[in-house]
Formats: sequence, structure tokens, C-alpha cells
Amino acid sequence: MNKKRIYLSSPHMGGTEEKYVGEAFSSNWIAPLGPNVDAFEKSVAEYCGIEHAVALSSGTAAIHLALIMLGIKAGDEVMASTFTFSATVNPITYVGAIPVLIDSEPGTWNMDPGLLEQAILERSSGNSKRKIKAIIVVHLYGMPANMDRITEIAARYEIPLIEDAAEALGSRFSGIQTGTFGKMGILSFNGNKIITTSGGGALICNDKGLADRARFLSTQARDNAPHYQHSQIGYNYRMSNVLAGIGIGQMEVLEERVKARRNNHFFYKKNLEKFEEISFLNEPGESYFSNFWLTTILIDPARTRVTREELQTALENENIESRPLWKPMHLQPVFSSCPVYQTGVSEDFFNRGLCLPSGSNLTDDDRERIMNVITKTLSRGRR
Ligand SMILES: *Cc1c(COP(=O)(O)O)cnc(C)c1O
Repeated sequence: MNKKRIYLSSPHMGGTEEKYVGEAFSSNWIAPLGPNVDAFEKSVAEYCGIEHAVALSSGTAAIHLALIMLGIKAGDEVMASTFTFSATVNPITYVGAIPVLIDSEPGTWNMDPGLLEQAILERSSGNSKRKIKAIIVVHLYGMPANMDRITEIAARYEIPLIEDAAEALGSRFSGIQTGTFGKMGILSFNGNKIITTSGGGALICNDKGLADRARFLSTQARDNAPHYQHSQIGYNYRMSNVLAGIGIGQMEVLEERVKARRNNHFFYKKNLEKFEEISFLNEPGESYFSNFWLTTILIDPARTRVTREELQTALENENIESRPLWKPMHLQPVFSSCPVYQTGVSEDFFNRGLCLPSGSNLTDDDRERIMNVITKTLSRGRR
């Protein structure tokens, strides 16, 4: 195959990253702290409109620390969106807690607020001594969840809210950056995200006590003493000063990356308008601004013979990467015994949904190649 591969979402450097990485080398700050980490944290916090950002080794580590700082222990329950990547839910099990999985609403594809409330009511009634200790809401594919209702429910039942905004840096709800509504938010800078440090994450919050504690826990929980002294279990979760250099450069182009990803979404929408069998994850109202990290489509089997697999295969045959939607956590063998509150929405989406190439570095030629394959394949399958 000699056609250039088109990836789903590949890293897109802005140009200044190497300069900041070079500074880490020339000053010999090759360490999990240093001036790049400080500058990166400042830039992330300012962009998000929040007091504190703590740069960490991954988004997964950020969720783990958030749960630890909330004091969540073995046997506690944590509610989480079922329609997500496993990294949302894995850390719940790291602290021995039980994930309670909540299905999606059709509009945002994110946690269904009605179902969340039903789950809270059911699980806190009766003689169950279990207490729901946290809610992790995900902003999937960059689409903000219904934060009006979710924050209201979390506040009313006094349950701490953690936002998994790993896919949603640059997305806003009512003009406010996702990840800043709850007690803590988490971001990811993994290689496939809207901006990247090759691997990394952040915990963001307005509470200085929590930010200080996250810094302490993520650097092995060293007490303030002349020797190495520890009174708590620590973790090695801090971001490297070298990688933070990539992050500073990436923050300089983040707004452009958001524009480019949104443009991809609107390009696909416009060019696939004539195919009634295709629908999109759209912003469901004025309050929603998505970074459209990935453009996702659903295929209506009543209107076409083309399945998700066939479209994926047709793209793959032209060396174009696409991917099914996240497989809901309650369908994953490893989480099959977790309590689940479901309506079937995420399962239906998983069965007939596809993520299209969505990188901010797609060229016009790339987009044309992709559109040709999709158009040809769909035209063949019309009922
Ligand atoms: C990528 C991702 C994470 C985890 O981030 P890492 O930095 O890869 O650990 C968590 N949640 C969601 C929804 C993600 O997409």
C-alpha cells in the first residue's frame, strides 16, 4: 500500500515545543519538576480559568489521586459514566471502590442526569450501608455533559463531583471550560488527545489545599524533614520537566487546534448531509461548545445496508484509520459484575457508531480521500 496513512488523531506540534525541551536540556532540568512544569501548569490553569493545575504523568494518575484525596476506600461506591474509555473507571478499582455505571442520554451521549439521580436514590435507600462517595462525569469526544443538571444533583445529594475532561480541553459549557465545574477536574495530554506532551495529565481545581496535596502525593509523599521521612503512602506521578516543555508549546496553539477539530466536524456534516442514514453527535443547545476532539457518526440500519464494520473496512482498505465508539464499561468483561443503570443508549451507539479521522493536521487532500471512500461506500448500500 503506498497511499499515506491517515490517522484517527495524531500528534500535531506547533513548532516551539523543541525550544522549550531544549531549555530543559541546556539548564539540565531533566527532572520531574522544574521551570517548564511551573510554566505549563500556569498556562493550563489560566486557559481553563481555574486557580490550580498540577501536571502529572497521566490523566489516569490524576483520577487516581482525585479519588485518594476524597478519601475513597474499599467498599465505597463511585458513580461513573459507562460510555467512556476504561481509564475513567480503572482508578476506582485501584482504591478498592466499586464502580456504579451510569448510561448516557441521547443528546450529549454523556451521563444521563435522570438515571444518575435514580441510581443515587435507589442506592442510598434501604438498609444498605454503602455510601456513594463520588461521581465521575465524562465529557466524551469533547462534548460537554449536561452540567446544569449534573452539578445540581451532585450539590443536592452532597456528593463530590470529579470531571473527566481528558477529551475535552477547549470545550465549554455556558462559556465555562469543562473540568472546572466539579471539586476536581482531570485532563490528559496523551498522544492522541487535542494537545499532547506524548504522555501526561493534569489535575485542576480551585482548592489550594487539594492542589498542594496532589503535588505532595505525586512526589512520594515526602514529609518536611532533612532526611527521607514518610507518614503516608506516596506515588510517583509527577510530570517530567522535559515533557512539560512540549506542553508549553502545545498550549500556544491550543485555540487553533480547537478550531481545526471543529472545522473537521462541520466539514463531515456538510458533506454527508445528503445521507439521511448518517447522524452526528451535535451540540444539543446554546450552552454547549465542543472541541470536537473526534467527529463521531451513527449509522441508521433502517436506511442503509452498510454496517459500521463495512465502512471501517472500506476506509482501512484505503489506509485510513477509523474506530468504533468506546465500548461501554458495563459490556467489558472486567467490569461485568459492576452495578449498572442503563437505558440501552450507549450500547446502541456502540453497535452502530464510528469515529472518523479527526486530527487537527488533516489536509484538504486527506479530507477529500476520506470523503470519497465514505460517499462511495454509502452510495452502494442505500436501501
Ligand atoms: C485518554 C483518557 C483518559 C486517560 O488519560 P491518560 O492520560 O491516557 O491516562 C481518561 N479518560 C478518558 C475519557 C480518556 O479518553
